[in-house]
Amino acid sequence: MRQMMVEEFCELAKIDAESGEEAELAQVVAAKLKSLGLDVTQDDAGSKFGGNAGNVIGRWPGSAGKEPILLSAHLDRVPPGKGIRPVIEGNRIVSGGDTVLAADDLGGVVAILAGMRMARAARGELPPLEIIFTVSEERGLQGAKHLEYTKIRSKRGYVFDSSSPVGVVITQSPTHVKLDGAIIGRAAHAAVNPEGGISAIHVAARAISGFPFGRIDDETTANIGMISGGVATNIVTERVAFKGELRSLDAKRALGLSKACAEQIRLTAAQYGALAEVSTRVEYYGYAISRDSHVVKRVEKALAMSGREALYRSTMGGSDSNIFNKQGIESVVLGMGASDVHSTAESLPISELVAAGELARDIIMAG
Ligand SMILES: [Zn+2]
Repeated sequence: MRQMMVEEFCELAKIDAESGEEAELAQVVAAKLKSLGLDVTQDDAGSKFGGNAGNVIGRWPGSAGKEPILLSAHLDRVPPGKGIRPVIEGNRIVSGGDTVLAADDLGGVVAILAGMRMARAARGELPPLEIIFTVSEERGLQGAKHLEYTKIRSKRGYVFDSSSPVGVVITQSPTHVKLDGAIIGRAAHAAVNPEGGISAIHVAARAISGFPFGRIDDETTANIGMISGGVATNIVTERVAFKGELRSLDAKRALGLSKACAEQIRLTAAQYGALAEVSTRVEYYGYAISRDSHVVKRVEKALAMSGREALYRSTMGGSDSNIFNKQGIESVVLGMGASDVHSTAESLPISELVAAGELARDIIMAG
């Protein structure tokens, strides 16, 4: 199994699949699911956001008396993710050094495929399964957002997509609000007629200096990460645009704080006679899953089957699980054991890959 998982991981990593360009990889994993006996479809999610592939959905009918469960991982990887040359170094798989490895999230894809193979080979009664390989997770959870939930039966799910060690169960994630702002002042010659202008840079500086950067409390963060404006030093700047975000494990706090920040920016602009265009939108909602819930109890049981203890964590990151939970599929995210994801130093211990596959098998068998 170990050898097969490593080979399959390397096979899939070599297929280019940055966000929006998952078509070839989607075809390959769809064929693998079919060869495992699943009923496989691909939706048209990609066409809704400019990607070249939809989500791959594999269904296993399972025993009627058992609860259907959803197992998910994402197909896309962050750049630089083209031309990956995976290398085995002892117990680790690493990239050639000039790309990511795409263990985020091929670790999850390979674990689910291996888990399904092992569960089938065990010849017990399996539950109904929905295996969903999403597209463009790394680009705002686009695949999960465009999935047709009326066609999904499962009410509980497992997202194989955390960079924590195998055994970690993410039960809490924040609500994430995006903030888009622009200050509109008035252009004038900066030396001949400075009195005629209102500097958008000056006003934006005042407005942004009042923004609560960083870790605001244990469960809340804020950042403005992009700013642009101005055309020449002799022109009083007319327009400055900026983008930021607020996240909190407390949804009310994320929403309230983003409204307050937007209002503060408007007020500051008004004080200087400038205009502010500020909008906020929820990128995704947070969730908090109880330790007593079925979805947690099942993974706890599955981990115990290979002598592992569940470690519960919250994250300040988002994943497809945020969308699944909002859609009524109670989901947690599982550690896949990769290190340094989203960097060219990304690596995956083979023992963790194997453990993740066994976990997938045991989650299937535990129901
Ligand atoms: Zn991921």
